[in-house]
Amino acid sequence: GFSRRGVRGSFVPPIKSSGGNVGNVTSRIAGKCDDSLDDSTKRCLEMLYGPDGELPEKLRNLEPRLIEHVSNEIMERDPNVRWDDIAGLEHAKKCVTEMVIWPLLRPDIFKGCRSPGRGLLLFGPPGTGKTMIGKAIAGEAKATFFYISASSLTSKWIGEGEKLVRALFGVASCRQPAVIFVDEIDSLLSQRKSEGEHESSRRLKTQFLIEMEGFDSGSEQILLIGATNRPQELDEAARRRLTKRLYIPLPSSEARAWIIRNLLEKDGLFKLSKEEIVTICNLTEGYSGSDMKNLVKDASMGPLREALRQGIEITKLKKEDMRPVTLQDFENALQEVRPSVSLNELGTYDEWNKQFGSLS
Ligand code: ADP
Repeated sequence: GFSRRGVRGSFVPPIKSSGGNVGNVTSRIAGKCDDSLDDSTKRCLEMLYGPDGELPEKLRNLEPRLIEHVSNEIMERDPNVRWDDIAGLEHAKKCVTEMVIWPLLRPDIFKGCRSPGRGLLLFGPPGTGKTMIGKAIAGEAKATFFYISASSLTSKWIGEGEKLVRALFGVASCRQPAVIFVDEIDSLLSQRKSEGEHESSRRLKTQFLIEMEGFDSGSEQILLIGATNRPQELDEAARRRLTKRLYIPLPSSEARAWIIRNLLEKDGLFKLSKEEIVTICNLTEGYSGSDMKNLVKDASMGPLREALRQGIEITKLKKEDMRPVTLQDFENALQEVRPSVSLNELGTYDEWNKQFGSLS
């Protein structure tokens, strides 16, 4: 309109489109002057500046320091996990590819009847690769990855969680396609109504559900992944929004063998025979992927400990003199590294999976 024209009648953009004039951006967001913001905050804001020189509407009423926290701490530039790094879980990989990766890569095809759910729940015992899957999805779909642990929202960000959630979804919507991974989502969307449930945690939960609703209906390319090892704590509202629910179980015997081989080969320490691998796999029934990693780490210390026992000084130890990792090293390590998941926990997952899990 008329008010946007200068004295000479030339168009004056509401904010400079060069991107260099951060002052305008920041004052627009927070109504603050430049001096209150440090350089890194300014840089974060600059990056989010649209090509038209406008700050996206979603970010205008957010506090710059929260936007900065999201950009620097929650957003991961390169999660660097590929499908091939994840042992087993073939079924989950196949489902996820169809349900979320294809839609993120081809939004034009996946609309109407094919429009995907925007919420995915990964549940199962701890240390089974749920976070890895989240990162791999972002990598395969060329999406920006955001990682937040829900318990940090309630503990570290007391009273501010709500604002941080808004900043998180705001920045994600400026960085599409985006994958938002919420670890321990049960602590945010739990059905437990303890008497002492604070007003603030109720508001946090409401805000979170509102944000999810917001991108669920629209054309936004945002996927929310919740991970939990306590799926039974989720309430009905949470289940409704996390439409796909995949069980991520303990690794099979083959997957455990794969983890051992993969980790040792990377370091050139792999010399075990097929039979020895089978023996180790039989001894590690019930170990999670993360337990297996710890086991391999401990076993790979075997050759080193032995050399030191023989009196060789650590400073004089030659790498080429160290022997490969043996079955005996694993047998010793098995005494140290015990499985972290108990059998009766597994029954709970199976039951919940039967009742609420997605089969395909
Ligand atoms: P979760 O999110 O399920 O608790 P993570 O994905 O964080 O578990 O896994 C923790 C670590 O355990 C990983 O960094 C990886 O080293 C190892 N790990 C777990 N599951 C697998 C798997 N299926 N394949 C390979 N490594 C795994």
